[in-house]
Amino acid sequence: FKRPATAASAAYSTGGGGGGCTCTSKKLEGKVALITGGASGLGKATASEFLRHGARVVIADLDAETGTKTAKELGSEAEFVRCDVTVEADIAGAVEMTVERYGKLDVMYNNAGIVGPMTPASISQLDMTEFERVMRINVFGVVSGIKHAAKFMIPARSGCILCTSSVAGVTGGLAPHSYTISKFTTPGIVKSAASELCEHGVRINCISPGTVATPLTLSYLQKVFPKVSEEKLRETVKGMGELKGAECEEADVAKAALYLASNDGKYVTGHNLVVDGGMTAFKIAGF
Ligand code: NAD
Repeated sequence: FKRPATAASAAYSTGGGGGGCTCTSKKLEGKVALITGGASGLGKATASEFLRHGARVVIADLDAETGTKTAKELGSEAEFVRCDVTVEADIAGAVEMTVERYGKLDVMYNNAGIVGPMTPASISQLDMTEFERVMRINVFGVVSGIKHAAKFMIPARSGCILCTSSVAGVTGGLAPHSYTISKFTTPGIVKSAASELCEHGVRINCISPGTVATPLTLSYLQKVFPKVSEEKLRETVKGMGELKGAECEEADVAKAALYLASNDGKYVTGHNLVVDGGMTAFKIAGF
């Protein structure tokens, strides 16, 4: 919602980027989180929100330069580890490093993802090598993250796993085929894992964000609308939800992750939390 500038609302103002909640209760005090794709966009905003709530955060990302910069920017409780989610040994290494360093892993967030190529648009022309690349990051990377986190969480009999899907995984037709297909799998992976992990006291949930003006979205939209300025695209993206008076921010997704990762979500597992300002409700309704 467009929050009125009153003293009451100021306490909960999300501000730009990663959040800015000034409330004093720390919902992840003493917790250790690992976030793939945490160098940028939604992963970075979530790292920032988790840190604000007392967690120590390991950012695992392919992009070492941005990842190192992000960890430095987020402060001493954040650190970076280079990790390519398409390489199982990298994920295993990032998880092992986290457990060795901090003695545990409370939250594993399988968030890294790419959109992949825009063209050719027709599934009849799908480049199977490119399709495999998207699936390798958006699907293999997620399953691999779950596998290696579960190795530690099952014996610990606690833990929380999060995975990022998309509105593209709720309704078709919003993005290229490979991305849409890959994102439809995420809630299924989460359901399958939840059915086993609940027995071990481990929760796993999915978040499906609407369109947020991150580098991923902007580079995708710049390809679709090459003549439109970045500023204009940012403005358009902010208003893409249907909820009147609300603008989409990275922090909205980060706060959904905080809810699921914290004790507030202690009875929630196997769920797909759609954070899209009514975008998919509108689409599903067929208008
Ligand atoms: P982003 O591009 O800002 O961040 C993605 C991060 O993932 C980058 O730091 C990138 O370096 C990293 N990454 C890419 N490939 C990797 C690999 N092989 N191994 C490790 N890290 C890798 O994008 P974002 O918008 O923050 O996207 C985060 C997640 O949210 C993705 O899964 C995306 O599909 C999903 N999502 C985004 C939106 C949106 O509108 N931004 C909407 C729905 C879903």
